[in-house]
Amino acid sequence: MSSATCSRAGCHDAARWRIDWRNPRIHGVDRRKTWVACDAHVDYLRGFLASRAFPVQVAELTDAEPTA
Ligand SMILES: [Zn+2]
Repeated sequence: MSSATCSRAGCHDAARWRIDWRNPRIHGVDRRKTWVACDAHVDYLRGFLASRAFPVQVAELTDAEPTA
């Protein structure tokens, strides 16, 4: 149940990071999306969001996180 899989398309590695982000154009201030990423893709996904000027926050994934 705690084995979340990386959000990067085509990657099936276990996620170790969570990336909380928001699109200010479509999401309210209290609404956030969460991606999860393996070690290899956390920088890619964070860069993808940062390049769009979306607010993005990266944290270590813990066992308590939902796997949606
Ligand atoms: Zn990955």
